[in-house]
Amino acid sequence: MKRIVVIGGGSGGVMFSNRMRREFSPDDVEITVIEKSEKHFYQPAFTLVVFDLDEPKNLMRPVKDLFFDGIKLVTDEATKIDPANNKVYTVKSGELTYDYLVIASGAKLLFEEPEGLKEGLEASKNVFTFYKLEGAIKLRDKLKDMDGGTIVSTVCEMPIKCPAAPMKFIMMAEDLMKRKGLREKFKFIFTTPMPAVFSREPYASKLISIFASRNIETVANFAPSEVDYEKRVLKDYGGKEVKFDLLSITPPHGGEAVVENSEGVGDAAGWVTCDKHLMVSKKFSNIYGIGDATDFPTSKTASGIRKQAKVLVARLGAEITGMETHAKYDGEIICPMLTRDKRVMFAQFNYEEAISPAIESYANWVLKVHTLRPLYWNLMLNGLI
Ligand SMILES: Cc1cc2nc3c(=O)[nH]c(=O)nc-3n(C[C@H](O)[C@H](O)[C@H](O)COP(=O)(O)OP(=O)(O)OC[C@H]3O[C@@H](n4cnc5c(N)ncnc54)[C@H](O)[C@@H]3O)c2cc1C
Repeated sequence: MKRIVVIGGGSGGVMFSNRMRREFSPDDVEITVIEKSEKHFYQPAFTLVVFDLDEPKNLMRPVKDLFFDGIKLVTDEATKIDPANNKVYTVKSGELTYDYLVIASGAKLLFEEPEGLKEGLEASKNVFTFYKLEGAIKLRDKLKDMDGGTIVSTVCEMPIKCPAAPMKFIMMAEDLMKRKGLREKFKFIFTTPMPAVFSREPYASKLISIFASRNIETVANFAPSEVDYEKRVLKDYGGKEVKFDLLSITPPHGGEAVVENSEGVGDAAGWVTCDKHLMVSKKFSNIYGIGDATDFPTSKTASGIRKQAKVLVARLGAEITGMETHAKYDGEIICPMLTRDKRVMFAQFNYEEAISPAIESYANWVLKVHTLRPLYWNLMLNGLI
């Protein structure tokens, strides 16, 4: 009997655990998941909520309902890993001993910086973040009220979950105002700390041409230092300023405290340092990482995690049974970019190359807006696709 402990019951924790349970009976492999929250959110549809394309009630399910029978759920917070003794410490449930540990603790949103971000979000007047469901709802309502002004979508720093999401927002906001007949009354600005709007071709060139043709301004190399919601100005470390009437902000992300508290497990930002193909910790041979928690050099997406879960089950399964496997994660992710009403472009790539063409299509829209959520709840989380 091998004991696997999983930290985190988000997309990665559930996809891995259910897939592993289907492969191994509880008599052979004991799976225990430590999850601090009682709620699991389908985050990829937060952007849909902003534009009334999905309802908040569809995006949350109780964590306890997501796991197959035979998986033990501990509703608690993991505080520290002791790799030398194969133990995880928790707030209320004492210590858990593992033969293999899977870290699926996701990414934490950091609101301490830029200065004034927290105050701006709390005031809920003109600064919002759709990276949380309640923020997406507030942003939706604010957009409904607006009849003119400057809308800014800003990324504070990389990496972030779904790097295309802030671009989806600005393109969809522009399209919304056009459809309402208010386009001339608005200005749209996208700011990024990166040198360009997107890093991967052919999607980068396509996005540049979409932004240019629709008069969406890009401010590149812009690393925000301060949000002043009263004066409605966003400042960066280089002294540049961008004025806004509505600011949609993507806050900085970092790894969870449990990674930071555990020596040798993560890097300075709290991301679990793993082999990008084998998913195993660079330092500890019985610790694996999956999902946003890792330092894999690809986009942090649920689509990538679906691929990672298959690889991790194959690798861990081979390790447990003493068999050989060639399963490797190749970095593949699919990011559906809503570019305007009824049009979505898929950016699908792996570590090496682009996989999908840079085409906006209605078929992609149907998949993203109407199909992916039910697929997520019913098939992806159950490890069936
Ligand atoms: C606005 C937005 C849009 C997105 N759009 C897309 C998209 O279009 N396509 C796509 O594929 N992906 C998209 N994503 C990304 C996708 O949702 C994430 O990559 C994915 O859900 C991350 O899964 P995860 O398991 O790594 O982390 P999470 O799902 O965040 O789960 C981590 C879990 O770990 C728990 N946890 C953390 N620390 C501890 C601890 N110490 N002890 C116990 N439990 C702990 C947390 O409570 C959480 O439940 C989007 C995300 C956002 C926010």
